[in-house]
Amino acid sequence: MKNQEQTGDLSQLKSMFSDYQKKQSQSTNRKSRGDILAKYFVPRASKEVFRILPPKAGRKHIDEAFFHVVTTSVAGGKKKHGTVIYCPAHNDPKVPKLGSDGKPLLDANGAPMLVPAPCPLCAKYKSWLQKQDPSLKGVKKENMNSMQLIVKTKNDEIYREAIKWVAKKFYIVRGIDKGKEKDGVKFWRFKHNYKNQGTLDKLLPILEDYMTTQQADFSDGMTGTDLNIIMTDSEFNGHVYKAISAITAKGKSLLHADPQVMKAWLDDDINWRDVFLPKKAPNTTPFEFLEMVASNTNPYWEDTDQTNKHWVFPGRPDLEEKANTRTMNLDRDDKEFEQATDLITQEIPRVTISNITPEKVGEYTDDASDIGKETLAEASVIPPSTVTIEPATTLVENSGNENQSDSSDYDDLPF
Ligand SMILES: [Zn+2]
Repeated sequence: MKNQEQTGDLSQLKSMFSDYQKKQSQSTNRKSRGDILAKYFVPRASKEVFRILPPKAGRKHIDEAFFHVVTTSVAGGKKKHGTVIYCPAHNDPKVPKLGSDGKPLLDANGAPMLVPAPCPLCAKYKSWLQKQDPSLKGVKKENMNSMQLIVKTKNDEIYREAIKWVAKKFYIVRGIDKGKEKDGVKFWRFKHNYKNQGTLDKLLPILEDYMTTQQADFSDGMTGTDLNIIMTDSEFNGHVYKAISAITAKGKSLLHADPQVMKAWLDDDINWRDVFLPKKAPNTTPFEFLEMVASNTNPYWEDTDQTNKHWVFPGRPDLEEKANTRTMNLDRDDKEFEQATDLITQEIPRVTISNITPEKVGEYTDDASDIGKETLAEASVIPPSTVTIEPATTLVENSGNENQSDSSDYDDLPF
């Protein structure tokens, strides 16, 4: 009898262990801002080593995605150039086109007509383009009369304003930063360069050469290669920034000597959408945030005065007030709300928190390597800035502090 009781106790213990394990893995699903930052691969040291991972099923080695690169308001009433913002029109699934009655329009086969998801920044780009005088379409500059040349100058001005708002193509590569293996799978995002002088243009010949000479997939866990990335300081318009001077393949090697580490990396399901998230602010949807960016009134976290950190919503005192005195309803999400295990029922408290302080974030541009190599029109609107980088570790602050538990809902990451 006694033996049986003991067996019963053990099975209870076993289920306790498996419960704990489940909870451990659940808590790692929710990523803090610092966790997300650690998923960015940003070459910045004079030499970096990166290993491209094989793509997940149905995906490519090099993904393409679209982001706006715009000027936004930041702390201290300053402007930050080169803020990279997710574009829903180019990255989200298409949505049904609605008629004037608000109902989905159908095509000839009775299927809903689909259009790109609305994006206020893409809309702004288009509205600028529409201001151009169309009479010059197809007329070559050398054939224009003096009146037409004046119109052309005006059109060019409009174009330069329009191009500030266009969604830009980026390439995203999944891989391992060999200098920071503990961060696991990372994403290297770099801008398309229309002059064929970008990162991709340096990378592709190396990868192709490796495939040809080694008869192997550069990303293969057994027969692939680490890549040396040599960085250099470059100057453009009086600003110093990091640029890639060369990429070389190190030669055939195992992804990692430990097969378990290798498997964990290869099996990791994280993708770039988990990392390059749409931007948000408190009580504001990503769409509303984009609208505010389009009207040069984006909200930002003001942390210049250490004793008075707060959200700023230009022109929206209502939202600003709400953001800085948030009522945190602790039962808003059952999954988030944990109670002591010895409690069965208890009235859930509501607490009001003022001056919520999100984690301090550093300031850097993740794509400085390409800046300065844009076409002239683009370069004139995206001045490169000196890269100031805080180590990712300083970005994880106060984790576990209840007052700040929801700050990671707002992806106002500094890029
Ligand atoms: Zn867009």
